[in-house]
Amino acid sequence: MIRFEGAAKTYPGQTEPALDAFDLAVEAGTTCVLIGPSGCGKSTALQLVNRLVVPSAGRVLVEGRDVAGLDPIGLRRRIGYVLQGVGLFPHRTVAQNVATVPGLLGWTRARITERVDAMLDLVGLEPGQYRDRRPDALSGGQRQRVGVARALAADPPVLLMDEPFGAVDPVARTRLQDEVRGILGRLQKTVLMVTHDIDEAVRMGDTVALMRDGRLVQVAPPAALLAAP
Ligand code: ADP
Ligand code: ADP
Repeated sequence: MIRFEGAAKTYPGQTEPALDAFDLAVEAGTTCVLIGPSGCGKSTALQLVNRLVVPSAGRVLVEGRDVAGLDPIGLRRRIGYVLQGVGLFPHRTVAQNVATVPGLLGWTRARITERVDAMLDLVGLEPGQYRDRRPDALSGGQRQRVGVARALAADPPVLLMDEPFGAVDPVARTRLQDEVRGILGRLQKTVLMVTHDIDEAVRMGDTVALMRDGRLVQVAPPAALLAAP
């Protein structure tokens, strides 16, 4: 479903590649978590999938297609993106935020309204109470719920999540992790996620991909990772 084939990225002005000879497959309906120290290339790998970063070599396939051949609409229909904290538009309401991609896709107003409410229900935010709020009137956890609702609104098969729970307090975080994992499993989404938190990787991942210095070190189920010496 997501496949990196020899993907590499060297940023302009850098001598060392941020990512090199990167081969990874994420099977349909599973979650793969990229983990490793700061600067090891996790975000670069993630952003190659939705073309925020263009590879210096190699390619990335989504549903068997090279993402280089997808236009912005094609990318957004296939790939949802959850960012840490700052990802919501601050001057737009919760409903307007969730409606972003359906709006770009030209859905009718009635279909969008129905979808927004369904998405808020899905992530545990009562639509009547939260629809018209602005992000600054929400807790960190609630903002991340809206971020997930927005990313899933147009029902993309693939979801990218970059440190999705970084701004959520520790008590709310484990509950949110479990809830989101449940939602993604029920919807059979194919997920690539970045974290530097090993507990989060173990909690959320079907597979964990360990990275160092722009390279993949190991890909394994969480249990195998924990058992490693
Ligand atoms: P991680 O997500 O694991 O922290 P990144 O993918 O963000 O790692 O970064 C990998 C390497 O690429 C780092 O050395 C970082 O400084 C560098 N890098 C990331 N983005 C850019 C950029 N836009 N320009 C130059 N260097 C970058
Ligand atoms: P593909 O995206 O693989 O070329 P699709 O059948 O998904 O094939 O879409 C055909 C073209 O129309 C693509 O360029 C796609 O991005 C674009 N497209 C699809 N749906 C919409 C839409 N709702 N509004 C505008 N453009 C769209």
